[in-house]
Amino acid sequence: MEDFDVAIVGARCAGASLATLLARRGLRVCVVDKAQFPSETPSTHVVQPCGVRILGELGVLDALLETAVPLNRFTMINDDVRIDGPIDVEEFGAPGLCVRRLTLDAALVDACSAAGADVRTGHAVTGVLKDATGRVRGVRSRDGDINARLVVGADGRKSVVAKSVGSAEYLTTPPGRIPAWAYFEGVDDREGRLRIGRVGDLTFLASPTDGGLYMAGIAVDVDRVSDFHSARDTYFNDALARCPDLPELLDGARRVGPIRVMTDWHGYFRQSAGPGWVLVGDAGHFKDFTAAQGISDALRQARSLAATIGDAFSSGGDTDAPLQNWWRWRDRDAYEMYWLATDMGLPGTSTPLITRLLRGIADDTESTRLFGHVLNHDLAPAKLFTPRRLLAASARAFADRPGQIWATSREIGSAIGNDIRRTRARRTIGQLR
Ligand SMILES: Cc1cc2nc3c(=O)[nH]c(=O)nc-3n(C[C@H](O)[C@H](O)[C@H](O)COP(=O)(O)OP(=O)(O)OC[C@H]3O[C@@H](n4cnc5c(N)ncnc54)[C@H](O)[C@@H]3O)c2cc1C
Repeated sequence: MEDFDVAIVGARCAGASLATLLARRGLRVCVVDKAQFPSETPSTHVVQPCGVRILGELGVLDALLETAVPLNRFTMINDDVRIDGPIDVEEFGAPGLCVRRLTLDAALVDACSAAGADVRTGHAVTGVLKDATGRVRGVRSRDGDINARLVVGADGRKSVVAKSVGSAEYLTTPPGRIPAWAYFEGVDDREGRLRIGRVGDLTFLASPTDGGLYMAGIAVDVDRVSDFHSARDTYFNDALARCPDLPELLDGARRVGPIRVMTDWHGYFRQSAGPGWVLVGDAGHFKDFTAAQGISDALRQARSLAATIGDAFSSGGDTDAPLQNWWRWRDRDAYEMYWLATDMGLPGTSTPLITRLLRGIADDTESTRLFGHVLNHDLAPAKLFTPRRLLAASARAFADRPGQIWATSREIGSAIGNDIRRTRARRTIGQLR
């Protein structure tokens, strides 16, 4: 049996980035993944600028920019409301990016090998090893056991590490929609614009990606999923035809490969630290994909976890207490965006209150700028969606539908109720440990 400081299960955005940063700090790191790279995984691949900056720190950005178009503009559409904003490199420190995981994850795996981590691919972990006190001491796999002072589960939504240590889920949310996406060649989009939005009961996301391809995806209401499955091609093509801008962009383009679909997901937080173990990325937390946050979340979490682990190891002290604190930081960091992403992915059509709120943002350049920062996770949603703004939008929503006072009141009441419940739940997070 071999001994490492840290064994990491999962070698994509969370695991490979963490392995690189820890190996650079001189730790003996082993990272294992059951996949062989390059390897696909369900994703629409959009990386927010905060994540792209970390790709720069990891040393993979220049190579990615040789094959992918930097995203310098975003458009968010909500029925007839259109928010157009810049992703200004000066302001955000990086452009946005949409690189297929086939390309991105292979670059991250190469980077952690180059940093000195022991990378083992095609290597499935089956559980964790524990000592007589119940402390995790390594991982078990069909190719042999790996001993380590700390085990990191970076093994995604179906994390074997989370299951083996009995990590409980909390604040779970059911799926509102299922995503379906495909790649196209022959799309002329040199301006590098990310498009995201909702028309009627349909949400969509589209962007140029690497290798000269364009990615376009829709999200289907859960109660329309059987319609989608009964005629996938027709449903998908008809849906794209209803999205603003996309019919013109995709005119003359050719779809490359099948329509990809992901049917089983839900939102959650998981207990993410315990004696000898910690969870990072999707292994510890997953949110609705509509807001395109998971990759940059994984990269930001990997960076902060590397600092926590590196400092604990170099001080020679206890790792458990710092990891518990890191877990608290992860929850605080993810909390507001979790609910914003959940709301963005809700099934059904938009509501008068949301439409009014977004119209207010679209009509004001400063609010549009701030909205870009909310998506970039450097401005809390509550700082943009302030009580004053909500009150103004509510008043206008009443004015928009003078004959439907009760329906509008119910919608506003439900928004306030959600806010109160979420604020209360935030206070109880610390007690779940
Ligand atoms: C359909 C869809 C679209 C999305 N679109 C976006 C988007 O546009 N932008 C965005 O930011 N986020 C998006 N996300 C979320 C994003 O993909 C995830 O948050 C991100 O992949 C998390 O990275 P990770 O490294 O934590 O986990 P993963 O990418 O899931 O990697 C986990 C790795 O662990 C390995 N593994 C699992 N079990 C074992 C085992 N037993 N032994 C060894 N290895 C194992 C797997 O092979 C895998 O390589 C999307 C998600 C979905 C499902």
